Amino acid sequence: MAKIGVTCHATDAKDSENLQLLVEQIADAVIRAGGEPVLIPPDLDADALRERYAALDGLILSGGGDVDPACYAAASTPAVDGVDPNRDYTEITLARWALTEQKPLLGICRGLQLLNVACGGTLYQDMSESPATLPHALCPGLPFDLLAHEVAVAPASRLAAIVGTAPFGVNSLHHQACATVAPTLRAVAHAPDGTVEAVEIPDHPFALAVQWHPEALPAAPESGALFRALVAASASDARAPLLP
Ligand code: MN
Repeated sequence: MAKIGVTCHATDAKDSENLQLLVEQIADAVIRAGGEPVLIPPDLDADALRERYAALDGLILSGGGDVDPACYAAASTPAVDGVDPNRDYTEITLARWALTEQKPLLGICRGLQLLNVACGGTLYQDMSESPATLPHALCPGLPFDLLAHEVAVAPASRLAAIVGTAPFGVNSLHHQACATVAPTLRAVAHAPDGTVEAVEIPDHPFALAVQWHPEALPAAPESGALFRALVAASASDARAPLLP
């Protein structure tokens, strides 16, 4: 069974109760997709992190607080919230390993932003800095499964092969978004106001990230398809263990 790493927030993180719920929903989604979730805390030392990563077949970068703007060479504005330097270090390290070693990777919300930053992109530190006109930051206080806006998926993309090209509704719990998309990434879904809602890396077997939370929309066909695609890519024979 494919082991899927799921990055986590620190226990004392801001909004930890909401983040805990989302991690549980990711674990449920991985199990339903036929995988085995393996939690990755944000504070492992380098050796323990490498050991945990080496045992994984695939990786999910989960939602959470903001990436430290220093990671994309920007000065922090007052809108930045919930920064955890340990988590940034852990996830950027994991993302770079997964990209270099071609391990399947799915980013969710912060995970999309983290992937963009790890590859050299930049973020709007708050949606008020972006040209967005739709409400994207509906959390906290509203149900995670509220459909906030539609997304349009680029044809001839990995994402389109998984979820199709018909527009569909998504939730939206982010107050940041991609500003400059990293050169190695391709934006493959957008909200009607132009906000980047998914990115993928064409030159990688499976590196995909979405700005919405599919784990909180378990009944949506697109959500199950995303997690099944990750598990299928992670279960490929190419990564079967060597026999003695
Ligand atoms: Mn959105």
